Amino acid sequence: MANLEFKSVSKSFGKTIVVEDLNLRIKDGELFVLLGPSGCGKSTILRLIAGLEYMDEGEILIDGRVINNIAPKDRNVAMVFQNYALYPHMTIYDNLAFPLKVKKVPADDIREMVRKQAGLLGLTELLERKPKTLSGGQRQRVALGRALVRNPSVFLFDEPLSNLDAKLRVSTRAEISSLQRTLNATMIYVTHDQEEALSLGDRIAILNEGRIQQIGTPQEIYDKPTNVFTASFVGSPRINLLEAKISDDCQMIIGKDVTLPIAESWRGLMENGRPDSIILGIRPENIFYQRNTKDDLVLAAEILHTEFAGDRHILFCRLGDEELRVKSGKVAPSSEGEKIKLFVNPQDCLLFDGKNGKRIL
Ligand code: ADP
Ligand code: MG
Repeated sequence: MANLEFKSVSKSFGKTIVVEDLNLRIKDGELFVLLGPSGCGKSTILRLIAGLEYMDEGEILIDGRVINNIAPKDRNVAMVFQNYALYPHMTIYDNLAFPLKVKKVPADDIREMVRKQAGLLGLTELLERKPKTLSGGQRQRVALGRALVRNPSVFLFDEPLSNLDAKLRVSTRAEISSLQRTLNATMIYVTHDQEEALSLGDRIAILNEGRIQQIGTPQEIYDKPTNVFTASFVGSPRINLLEAKISDDCQMIIGKDVTLPIAESWRGLMENGRPDSIILGIRPENIFYQRNTKDDLVLAAEILHTEFAGDRHILFCRLGDEELRVKSGKVAPSSEGEKIKLFVNPQDCLLFDGKNGKRIL
């Protein structure tokens, strides 16, 4: 397996900058996730690695060797796509064998390698069938197998689970994760699905408009987002981002008319030149209904409506002129229009600079 490095890579299509000054190191044996909204440049980055697209500037290195001028077929990377891209007229066996035949591997070796991968992926019973007779999940496993038989140094996954239904997505995700640990393979996995990214990635890079917003472990990204984009892209229901100001008498004023005392843990920040405007970030699970511990801030809110989510309720509340999403426990207030008190510990709040969106606490 291999490590992979991007050095100041840029790519434009016409006047549109799609990847801008990308610097990244992916470690040997790492499952690295590129997460970002549709159109942010994820597929383009994979295509640059595979050699299906030329970069305008910069270098990509695999194991320290610059691959810019190496032909795609000699890069030893394998790509798995959302739409499987299987050969419809070939059997599953032939689909799996195809990349080996192209490499002129001896027939006996091909048979053995295909049997081995088929066994590993639970495809043995399906080898004589054609792709169209398989379910989406089975087809995706064939696509995975076809990448595996090549024994590449880097695997590239481009939203491989998007065509599967929810249940299959979760089980295939677990398979990919366990396969990755078994093979100890270097994998770059592209998705727009934050839940998939958090559950799969050793590390995640969050992209927006061709630029990396943050690189970190799932926990780091979730707990310590660098800016409001990252904070709001990860987590469901979405984090609450409340526009606020600090008044001269050191109160936090949310929206027009909600006032909170400045928490002790925020004071340091206020002393080093307080920002004109602030965005107060509170994740829905950090707001409590029926709790009041010593340091909690109290928010007087009104329930707009509630959503039942099995193990919990999501409350949509009004706080001044802002809407607040709250993940409550099993017990939830039921009546819409009810005035309630909500509690939040200042330690669980994130503060962002209102001007540039960067996290300041
Ligand atoms: P993602 O995979 O994150 O959805 P892509 O990498 O596919 O994003 O595309 C990023 C941007 O580049 C999009 O705006 C897309 O329209 C544009 N783009 C991608 N490929 C081409 C191309 N071959 N020619 C022109 N524009 C392209
Ligand atoms: Mg894409």
